[in-house]
Amino acid sequence: MSCLDCGAPAVATCTHCGAAACHDHLVATTEHLTITVPLNRQVTVEPAARRIRCHICQKAYDATNDPRGATQARSG
Ligand SMILES: [Zn+2]
Ligand SMILES: [Zn+2]
Repeated sequence: MSCLDCGAPAVATCTHCGAAACHDHLVATTEHLTITVPLNRQVTVEPAARRIRCHICQKAYDATNDPRGATQARSG
């Protein structure tokens, strides 16, 4: 399988879009999963899960979570 962006041998696939990506075009992050314990309390579990995204999906994800990248409020 080859990287969708550059054609180099792919090492992983994006968990969001499914595109194959090489080392240069993937972003490996971690995701903290939680469990709900009695009294509806959410507790983070260890270890953090690994999450692989291609660089495009990571940029899109960052845009939705970065206040500077968020859609500005419309006036009128
Ligand atoms: Zn690539
Ligand atoms: Zn992707």
